Amino acid sequence: MIWNETYECLSRKEMRELQGKRLFNTVERVYYNSPFYRKKMQELGITPEDIESVEDLAKLPFTVKNDLRDQYPFGLFSSPMSEIVRLHASSGTTGKPIVGGYTRKDLNIWSEVMARTFSAGNCDRGDMFQIAYGYGLFTGGLGAHAGAERIGASVIPISSGNTEKQIQLMTDFGTTALCCTPSYALYLAEMIDKMGVGNKLKLKAGFFGAEPWTEGMRKELENKLSIKAFDIFGLTEIIGPGVAYNCSEQNGLHFNEDHFIPEIIDPNTLQPLPAGEVGELVITTITKEGMPILRYRTKDLTSLNYEKCSCGRTSARMDKIRGRSDDMLIIRGINVFPSQVESVLLEFSEAAPHYHLFVDRINNTDVFEIHVEVRPEFFSDHLSQMLNLKKKIAHRIQSVLGISAEIKLVEPRSIERSTGKAKRVTDKRNIYNQ
Ligand code: ADP
Ligand code: ZN
Repeated sequence: MIWNETYECLSRKEMRELQGKRLFNTVERVYYNSPFYRKKMQELGITPEDIESVEDLAKLPFTVKNDLRDQYPFGLFSSPMSEIVRLHASSGTTGKPIVGGYTRKDLNIWSEVMARTFSAGNCDRGDMFQIAYGYGLFTGGLGAHAGAERIGASVIPISSGNTEKQIQLMTDFGTTALCCTPSYALYLAEMIDKMGVGNKLKLKAGFFGAEPWTEGMRKELENKLSIKAFDIFGLTEIIGPGVAYNCSEQNGLHFNEDHFIPEIIDPNTLQPLPAGEVGELVITTITKEGMPILRYRTKDLTSLNYEKCSCGRTSARMDKIRGRSDDMLIIRGINVFPSQVESVLLEFSEAAPHYHLFVDRINNTDVFEIHVEVRPEFFSDHLSQMLNLKKKIAHRIQSVLGISAEIKLVEPRSIERSTGKAKRVTDKRNIYNQ
């Protein structure tokens, strides 16, 4: 079943026309309701009348994370508070959190895009959804919850954490669809194994997102949990989860383009890049009321593909996110993404995909160490075997990343597990970079 064929299968021309109309309405809305955007547009000498079609998108100002921080808490709202029915906020590891405000219509859009996400993963009213994303200010829990209810599934709002209880309910209630971060799914899989209850599971689908994960990790989770694993993407600034989703082809993430327009720009020149080229994802909301956002610079790195998908959908597809430009480490002048390390480790059956990167600067030289867990079945006191594995991993890291790293093999289950977004990097050099 396709949740909303009307919007997921428009011709490119129809989509561009729809986007043009909705973009104009959004620009008009922010111009007259948000002093922040009015000022930004005035500085560029443009008015809503300058936006005649979606081709005019590039005339509009960018929005960056700091704008949201400067306008904390409600400065970017375009609806009076009396129309805002829900507030969310991102964790905001540094500085003030990013706040999102939703009108009733916004919540309706949100549940619709999440319903599309789950329908694209072949789930419907017959499914039992276990929502193990955190509930609360984080958008993951309530966002997924609303979409699962909207397709008519039965929903277990368990939130994140409490791992043994998760597994107990999963077996007792017959969960068929699991929603959580990929790192938590990996931890759950490990515990299921330990508890020896794998044969009692009815899982068929996993909807994993909120953090970058690799194709290798997808295969690992699919094998371990006997499911099909779908990537779901979103961010608080735009709406939360539901901005883009995998269909069963798992070949890129379909963008909900009738609500959010994606662009890829060169982060240095800020110029739009053509389809297929990797750059920074920029998103404009075109139906939101509470907090519409123009040209938000996500810092997420990916590319877009406008070819029709073999599933029948015509919406633009975004490649799996490679990482965030602010997650990128520059070590001895080389750009390193944690996801590159993950993809290397998944090539080794002896290593578990639990890892942590440590970077430091000693005597003006960057020191790069990767802690890698060894799988319990391979962990042995056999020194030569371990030395050999260490050498093999170091060699692959050198050839994939173009930089050498000290590999430290650590005991099974010694790296901290995460129930939400995993923290996989400790960079002690920050003091030098500021
Ligand atoms: P926070 O800022 O607290 O992390 P958000 O949940 O709003 O709060 O974070 C959104 C960010 O999470 C995105 O910009 C992106 O970097 C990352 N993200 C979300 N979903 C995915 C995904 N499926 N793949 C890769 N990264 C993702
Ligand atoms: Zn598709």
